[in-house]
Order: sequence, then C-alpha cells, then structure tokens
Amino acid sequence: MAKLGIVKVKLDRDVNCYVVSDATTKEAVVVDPGQPAEKIAEQLKDLNVRWIVATHCHPGHVGGKDELKSLAGGQTAMHSADAKQFLRSADRYLLDGDELEFGEFKMGVIHTPGHTPGSICLVVANHAFVGDTILAGGIGRQMPETDLRRQMMSIGTRLLRLPLSTALYPGHGPATSLERELATNPIFRGVGAASR
Ligand SMILES: [Zn+2]
Ligand SMILES: [Zn+2]
Repeated sequence: MAKLGIVKVKLDRDVNCYVVSDATTKEAVVVDPGQPAEKIAEQLKDLNVRWIVATHCHPGHVGGKDELKSLAGGQTAMHSADAKQFLRSADRYLLDGDELEFGEFKMGVIHTPGHTPGSICLVVANHAFVGDTILAGGIGRQMPETDLRRQMMSIGTRLLRLPLSTALYPGHGPATSLERELATNPIFRGVGAASR
C-alpha cells in the first residue's frame, strides 16, 4: 500500500503548514501556504508539488501561495467562497466533494463554512487538515467574517461524520484526533450534555 508522508512547517503568525506526500511517487500537496514561502520550499526539494491549497483565505494561511508556486511549482487551489470573500485568485476553485489527486492518493474536500465562508477541511486516508475550523482544545480565533453558529453546524454535521480515530491537523497548535476533541474540547460540552 502507498505510504503517506506528513511534515509540519511552522510559519509566521504561528500558522501550521503541512506538506503531504506520496512516499513512493514523491508527488505532494502543500496545505496552507503562508509565509515565509522559502521555509516551505525547503521541505519540497525532493518532491513534485501537485497542489498548493489553502484551508481558508486568512493571510497567514494563504499569503505565500504565489511565491511558493514560483519556487516549487504546482497548482494553487482554494474554495470559491473564500476567493470571493477575500478577493483572492487561484488556478482551481474548489467545491465540496472535490478531490485533489497526488500519487496514489486523493485528498477530499469537505466544505466546512463558519470560520470563513469558504473554510474547508481536507481529508486523505485517516488524516484531516482542518485549518481554523477546530484546534486542539478550541477553535480558531473569531474574525469579523466568522459565523460561529455555522461553524458549530459544520463541525457537528460534517467533521463528526468522519471516523473517530481520524487524526486532526489544525492550522495552529498541536495535532489531535477527533476522538480526543470530542472528549475534551469545550465546544462539545453542549453536545455531550444534550445527549446525556
Ligand atoms: Zn483563520
Ligand atoms: Zn489561522
């Protein structure tokens, strides 16, 4: 079976960028191309970049995309609703259910609006790259365009459909799992209380 590589790159504004690659074919996806782009490019030397994709279009998560594209190649991608909200452009505008192919893998796009209108979670095998939709022990910082109710709905109806063992790779802070967040994240307290 094909083997997946995941490397975290710490960027400015404490943003986590992830380099996700097929260990056999060396094709890769970069999730959240912030700044400095050179720091991401250093991790891409042996890889063939297929996609540079933003979980959402806050500057810390997308600000390095064009520079990274010129350094490392690949096609840029983001959800169409965030392209509109933040007046950003990409080679490909994503919608819910789209798939980004790299090597023998496919990265699935789940539209999880709330933190921003075009926030997405990216799922490959048992791993989900969740941007600022959910962090270990909390959620991403609320911004003027954040719709908290919609975000909670996205988490409850979309993320919670994934297997509980799914590993979560947030846009800030440490990695976690759906199971751990369900047990410990304060945002689920209401859910737990209601079901008891
Ligand atoms: Zn954000
Ligand atoms: Zn963020």
